[in-house]
Amino acid sequence: MRRGLVALGVLLVILGILIPEIPISGGYSIREIDNLCKSAFGVLGRLLSPAAQRECGKAAAVVLFSEILIIIGVVAVVVGLLKGAKSSPKEEISSAQTATVGRYCKFCGAYIGDAKFCPKCGRAQE
Ligand SMILES: [Zn+2]
Repeated sequence: MRRGLVALGVLLVILGILIPEIPISGGYSIREIDNLCKSAFGVLGRLLSPAAQRECGKAAAVVLFSEILIIIGVVAVVVGLLKGAKSSPKEEISSAQTATVGRYCKFCGAYIGDAKFCPKCGRAQE
């Protein structure tokens, strides 16, 4: 499941990087058009031409969309990796330290600990 999330994230990042590089008009990629629109020449062109204004708006929207894809992709990869780290096997707490329990006399029931003879009745405990 988490591998799927990481793979999906990587795919989104790749799409986000590739989409603006797709040539759409006159051999220019969306990113190139967006950069042109943001230049002084582009700003002037947008003021003079409503068509240029529309194309710049579209290019800016696609670039924004691709940036959102990259962000979502990175988040998906990070979440996928964090989930993987959390699901790694934890160190099992040893219960050996609590295993030592005092013994009781088989005959009178007095607590004798590790002694071989009962301190109360003096009988041997095997
Ligand atoms: Zn005893």
